[in-house]
Amino acid sequence: MENIIIAVDGPAGAGKSTIAKIIAKRLNINYIDTGAMYRAVALSAKRNNIKTTEIDSLMNMIDKMEMHFENDDLILNGVNIQDEITLPEISEIVSQYASIPEVRSKLVVLQRKMSEKYNVIMDGRDIGTTILPNAEVKIYLTASADTRAKRRALEYEQKGESFDLDQIRKDIIERDERDMNREISPLKQADDAVLVDSSEMGIDQVVDAILDVYNKKIQK
Ligand code: C5P
Repeated sequence: MENIIIAVDGPAGAGKSTIAKIIAKRLNINYIDTGAMYRAVALSAKRNNIKTTEIDSLMNMIDKMEMHFENDDLILNGVNIQDEITLPEISEIVSQYASIPEVRSKLVVLQRKMSEKYNVIMDGRDIGTTILPNAEVKIYLTASADTRAKRRALEYEQKGESFDLDQIRKDIIERDERDMNREISPLKQADDAVLVDSSEMGIDQVVDAILDVYNKKIQK
């Protein structure tokens, strides 16, 4: 049987990872968070003081990065870096590294490899358009910028971290603009992706909507 592949793309804070994790558990498949991989690149570059213009150094750095997921957390060279990559200072810089064609070429190879071995639900910005254009199920998950900012704020609140809602909204909009307007693999809805706007939907409703698309596909 062919692998199950579900591609979920959409802007920052649309709930992609929350939803994808739940669906992965329900279908007993693997969740691959491609954003985490770009975040790991940004984190390593920051630690090693490598700027976005230093392409050779970045390439060498990425070649030394072994990344895999354990319980949905990203493990980099044997160390769980999930908490660090989700920090605001990484969110601020990640899209600059993600817009570098050479960085993307490296990660494309790793991401495609991960999907060959396992049944996966993969989330990101270019999964349905570039990474896995043959995915049976493609979802474009979005929500209004206001809703997305409020959801992010709630995450900070739950973690007991301080936040500024206006700043979060501003950062999200800025990152989306960078992701949508970059030259290579910009964020965009694939022609054959199903649009799910979660602005007025709860988590369960979004999960059900996506499972509905999936069930209809596999019945065909
Ligand atoms: O999904 P997440 O918000 O963690 O992604 C962080 C950043 O990584 C995005 O804003 C984008 O710049 C980049 N990214 C990307 N392509 C992907 C996944 C993430 O360019 N497939």
